[in-house]
Order: sequence, then C-alpha cells, then structure tokens
Amino acid sequence: MRALWAKMTKGAVAVAALSILATAAPQQADAQELAKTLFGSHKLPAATQPQSIGFYSKGCFSGGVAIATDGPTWQAMRLSRNRRWGHPAMISLIGKLSHDAVQDGWPGLLLGDISQPRGGPMLTGHASHQIGLDADIWFTPMPDRRLTPQERENMSAVSLIDPKTRRVVEKRWTPAHARLLKRAASYSEVERILVHPGIKKKLCDTVTGDRSWLRKVRPFWGHDYHFHVRIGCQPGSPDCKRQEAVPAGEGCDKSLAWWFTEEPWRPNPNPDAPKARDVMKMSSLPKACRAVLEAPDPVSIAAVTYPSGNAAMITRADPIAAIAASGGLPAGASAFASTPEFGAPLPFPRPGD
Ligand SMILES: [Zn+2]
Repeated sequence: MRALWAKMTKGAVAVAALSILATAAPQQADAQELAKTLFGSHKLPAATQPQSIGFYSKGCFSGGVAIATDGPTWQAMRLSRNRRWGHPAMISLIGKLSHDAVQDGWPGLLLGDISQPRGGPMLTGHASHQIGLDADIWFTPMPDRRLTPQERENMSAVSLIDPKTRRVVEKRWTPAHARLLKRAASYSEVERILVHPGIKKKLCDTVTGDRSWLRKVRPFWGHDYHFHVRIGCQPGSPDCKRQEAVPAGEGCDKSLAWWFTEEPWRPNPNPDAPKARDVMKMSSLPKACRAVLEAPDPVSIAAVTYPSGNAAMITRADPIAAIAASGGLPAGASAFASTPEFGAPLPFPRPGD
C-alpha cells in the first residue's frame, strides 16, 4: 500500500483516499490491540491536516512532519528510532530555537526524541511525546562537524548532574546552558520545560535580572542530559487536551525543596508493575486515533520533511498555513479532515517525560 501511495500523483490521492474510507471498516484496529504496537509500526505520518488528539501521555496526532536530520543549526540523534516527527508547530519551533540559540552563542542543537510519525505510545521510553508537542534537546552542544549515523546512535550524552548530591556538576554547567533554557522559555507557544531538579536549583540560585521565565522551567525526574520542551495545544486541534497551567511564581520555593528530600527518590515499591504505555489498548486512546492509524501515508518522505532542499524555512508565525502553501500536504488531506467524536479521556494528573 505504501509503495502504491508513493507512485500516485497528488491529484489522485483524493480519489484513492475515498476508496480507502469505503473499505476501512474491516481493517480497523482491534480495540483490544496494544496501541504501542500499532503506532510503533508506522514509518510515515498520517497525511491529513495537522491535529493533536488527546493528551501528552494518551493520544496521537495526524499531519505530522519530520525535522531534517541535519540543518544549519542542528543535528538529529538516534536516527534509527524514527522519532523526528511532530506537529508542524513543534518542528517549526525547534528550527527557530536552534537558529536563535546560535545567535546567543550556543553552537547548535543536538535533537533527541520528538514523536513517532503518528504519535501514540512508544515501544520504549517516554510516557508522553504522544501528540507531537514534546521534544527532547540535549544539553551537549553540537560539535562543529557532522556526526556520522553511527555516532548519532552511540554517542552518549553527558549528565550535568552529580547523582550523589543531585546538584549540577559545576565544571559542566555554563552560562550558555542558562541562556539556552531562557531562550526556549521565551516563546509564547512553549508552556513547560522539564529539567532535573538540580538544574532548576542552579537557575534559581544564579539567574539575575528577568527571572519571570523560571516559571516555565519545571523540575522532573530524568532530564539531566537533555531538557524537554512542551508546547501547548495548537489551533486546529479541538480534541487536544490542555495540560494544567504552571503554578504562579518562579517555582524556587517549597515545591523545589521537596525534590531535595528523600521522598521523590524512594525506590519504586512495585518495580515490575507494567507502565501505562505498555498496557494501553486502542480502546483507551481517543477514538479518533483509529482514523489516524488508518489514514494514508504522504506521497513521499521529502514532502513532509522540513526544511526540504532549499525551500524557505517554515515561518513561525503560521507554520500550518506555510506548509499548506508549500504543497507539503497531499491534495487528499481534506478527505480526513473531520474526525469522529470521542468521549473525553481522563487527563493524567502528572505527565511523565
Ligand atoms: Zn523528555
């Protein structure tokens, strides 16, 4: 089927999409099937309108685009995972952040996981990253040469945290790290940045001048060698469940002090209990995620990779319009534009990483 799609002209996609709709019923994903298996098997995004469905840790997305493995100011890591996909607004934001970070004196970004092509739970790692609005970015600066694919698989990231004290390792922390986080927090679409509590503490102790941006930087487990950027639900995604707003204030208070008590680090009393993503069935995801699984592939991977060739970077102001205007979405996209109703899933009180 995939090869067939690749051969079709854009004009033919709309017609073919209709025929797929007509025959979709027998192929529908079994509600009892594991969502991670189904979402983990797709190599390409759902070629429909960009739309995030559900919650960061329980959902999926359509109309995804990939960030190119190499850009002027970034290099993507762990290419074999095929997690360079996100909502166009997320991909656009990463491009913009990488550009601005270089202006700030950071050598460029090494990109970790964003999402699977159609989001959903993953076979390994991450509770969240399911709706194309989360991205992990390494604290390791980009080297001044292109890494080989092998290096991108094997290179280990360096932790900024001393595991004994849970504080930043002073000789690894630089003012440039703080500038990078400040820049990431500066965009209105960024709602949260997750970092290890030791990094939040370092910022609380050292940032001078404008400290308002510290509010978006939230302490969390992990995130000692990368930080996690989460943007809000985007226009055109009525079924995207918003996360709770970050609490008021800089967050340098008791809520941070808690992380330096013993409580958050107690060993899991039930380490063998399955993780939510490991048991999540299709029936527990929003119904619209089944349509996302069944939607056609794009005409080619190039058509949904940004920036492609010498094409202008997607503009941050209106990435969706820019993508539509560039012809990136196949003509058949509108065939799947409307999504079925689904019951409101319960939001997770504490999203994972
Ligand atoms: Zn993360």
